Amino acid sequence: MVIERRELFIDGAFTPSDSSERIEVRSPADGQIVGSVPEANLTDLDRAVAAARRAFDEGPWPRLTMAERAEQLGRVHGELNGRQAELAALVTEEVGTPISFSTMVQAMVPMMFLDYYVNLGRTYATEDVRPGMLGPSIVVQEPVGVVGAIVPWNYPFYLTLAKVAPALLAGCTVVIKPAPETPLDIYLLAEAVEAVGLPPGVLNVLPAGREVGEALVGHPGVDKISFTGSTATGRRIMGICAESVRRVTLELGGKSACILLDDADLDLAVPGAVQAATLNSGQTCVAQTRLLVPRARHDEVVERVVALFDAMVVGDPRDPTTTVGPMVSARQQERVLGYIDIGEREGAKVATGGGVPSGLAGGHYVEPTVFVGVDNGMRIAQEEIFGPVLAVIPYEGDDAAVQLANDSIYGLSGAVWSGDTERGVALARRIRTGSFAVNGLGMNLAAPFGGFKQSGIGRELGPEGLAPYLEYKSISVPGDYVAS
Ligand code: NAD
Repeated sequence: MVIERRELFIDGAFTPSDSSERIEVRSPADGQIVGSVPEANLTDLDRAVAAARRAFDEGPWPRLTMAERAEQLGRVHGELNGRQAELAALVTEEVGTPISFSTMVQAMVPMMFLDYYVNLGRTYATEDVRPGMLGPSIVVQEPVGVVGAIVPWNYPFYLTLAKVAPALLAGCTVVIKPAPETPLDIYLLAEAVEAVGLPPGVLNVLPAGREVGEALVGHPGVDKISFTGSTATGRRIMGICAESVRRVTLELGGKSACILLDDADLDLAVPGAVQAATLNSGQTCVAQTRLLVPRARHDEVVERVVALFDAMVVGDPRDPTTTVGPMVSARQQERVLGYIDIGEREGAKVATGGGVPSGLAGGHYVEPTVFVGVDNGMRIAQEEIFGPVLAVIPYEGDDAAVQLANDSIYGLSGAVWSGDTERGVALARRIRTGSFAVNGLGMNLAAPFGGFKQSGIGRELGPEGLAPYLEYKSISVPGDYVAS
């Protein structure tokens, strides 16, 4: 069934776009049309920002207590929760994520985010009174204002909820711009917001490309930008925000390392490392695409890694047995194949994969690929490839492993595998990344997530993920003030 969306969601209602342009979504698996949406233009942007501005400046939403907003968001959760299977199938059509993975990460986890923030909001204290030298101060946390949220295509609903849930809970109003590759799934959120009857203008959805995205970033009606995407775009967005000292949160790229220590149990560590490298067919910011291996165990590890890569089921993402789907677009497929070519020209050796799988014409597939003979200075070890491509890098001694893991402009994620958890934790403390796992994949909605270095600024998830949507205000009061 082809999904034709005829309207944008602005000011609490589905409303025609000013533009006659449309964004067409084609399945990365076979090129078939999945659906289309209006492509919002700059007039639509002005309308959406004006609606969000009104909702913030005059509407009830920021004036409710956080607990009241949490109750309303709980109802949005209720609307969406029953649509998880539909959501997973839709994101699989848009992105090409294997359906077994979509069901969990593209559909179930966003519901968990929302639920987490609903629960946090029920008890979160937005003010406290602190004694001071000249009298006490009331320290108030207020919503930051109108938020422009921009998300990429790889986890479209998940990354949308990671912004929308804390932003709305904080009392902000939001204009969200999904990626042009994945504009369909967010309509489910708009429908839930409409069904629950959140006040007009609290959430506005503008499917569009780069031009409207950049205009949103620079729009005078916007107080804060929350961006997830590439580091190159993040740099540009930060520059625009700097001009008006606009608040900005950036969740950017990564080139994370998985470190196998010499005492690692390879029966656990190698499958864990392979899974972490190839999540969502490698199109994952936290993908651990550098595998650091003790030189003495290198050949044994490579043999096991190659066996697991060769056992992956590459194919139609709608098939529940598929483990690696297509790249999201022809452009992304070209980019990944281009990096494989770069790696070979740099002198690394393809241990398995390296091309386009046979028998899958019509989709943007790339063979799961393992490189050996990789030096950490090579481009395939330094740059984000965003496909199922793993670089195995040998090291000697834990200090060298730490040095190699940290030798990156990025600092997003990573893992260590060791037979000794204490040793693993000690090593984790030396790695310059925003999150890191010991003997596992690592995912905790209550713990902050984000980047060191050029992987970003600010945090999502946990109470720390609410903080970027709040401003602190200190109100000094006379000593006889009594909190009401
Ligand atoms: P991208 O930067 O090209 O695009 C991301 C979004 O920004 C899209 O909606 C796009 O339309 C918009 N955009 C592009 N140029 C813009 C501009 N000049 N102004 C405003 N908006 C603009 O990234 P992508 O290729 O869609 O996504 C992949 C990247 O996202 C990878 O680098 C990945 O690591 C990163 N990512 C990071 C996280 C994280 O949490 N750190 C999570 C997922 C993806």
